[in-house]
Amino acid sequence: MSDLFDLDGRVAVVTGGGRGIGRAIAIELANAGAAVVPSARSTDEIEAVAGEIRESGGDAVAVSADVTDSTDVSDVIDRAAAEFGGVDVVVNNAGFNPDDALGRPEEVDTESLDRVLDVNLNGAYEVTHAAADYLLESDGGSVINVASVGGLVGLPRQHPYVASKHGLVGLTKSMSLDWAPDVRVNAVAPGYVSTELTADLEENDRLRQSIVDRTPLDRFADPSEIAGPVVFLASEAAGYVTGSVLAADGGWTAR
Ligand code: NAD
Repeated sequence: MSDLFDLDGRVAVVTGGGRGIGRAIAIELANAGAAVVPSARSTDEIEAVAGEIRESGGDAVAVSADVTDSTDVSDVIDRAAAEFGGVDVVVNNAGFNPDDALGRPEEVDTESLDRVLDVNLNGAYEVTHAAADYLLESDGGSVINVASVGGLVGLPRQHPYVASKHGLVGLTKSMSLDWAPDVRVNAVAPGYVSTELTADLEENDRLRQSIVDRTPLDRFADPSEIAGPVVFLASEAAGYVTGSVLAADGGWTAR
């Protein structure tokens, strides 16, 4: 790999790093040389990811945290800094789109909206805020927010999720201005990726086909195809990229 993409000496915290897209991001950041702290609420999956990275010769430590709990969040950042000497990269990937937040506006209650915003938007802010001093001290600080095509366009029956992801895109742009030139802040906007989040969609033949038909690249993405753009955004190769939203959506938003 070219030095441009080398993350040797960097320390990366990945929320929701135990499975799906977050797992792929944690593993690819480690493959690029970063020490990685995968984090999620439960320990089994993040321990497995950290173990896999260490077995391949990388550095990783799993730290469990709920991104809506400020004590947990401080603990992740402090542990990352204590283990590896700082925090250079924050990947805000933890997110969800629960059934009770799906539906028309008259069907979804405000508690469901609040819960989605709390995890997908406020959680990302909480983690970034907790890591601020380390990011600003780093000579290559970088924040990558995992948004969605739902951060760029509306999606029917998903207004809480779409609001949270549009919020995350807004956070990305504004924070990139406040933290330039010291810390770069970017987002990736995945289209449909094969993970537990989309398992129900993929199992429903009609829904799966309608998504594939709407996607120029004709398929769901593999989680590793979101990890590549994240490694790029974390690296020197993206040294002049900040405040941007990289769509990794198989062409979904190009239509
Ligand atoms: P997933 O359900 O497989 O993984 C989500 C991860 O987030 C899990 O590790 C989970 O434990 C963690 N998480 C959820 N709530 C949390 C909380 N309160 N605190 C800490 N961790 C929490 O989903 P995924 O598909 O891998 O999604 C990852 C991210 O990518 C999400 O932000 C999602 O919105 C986004 N995304 C996914 C798709 C897709 O098609 N799968 C498309 C666009 C965007």
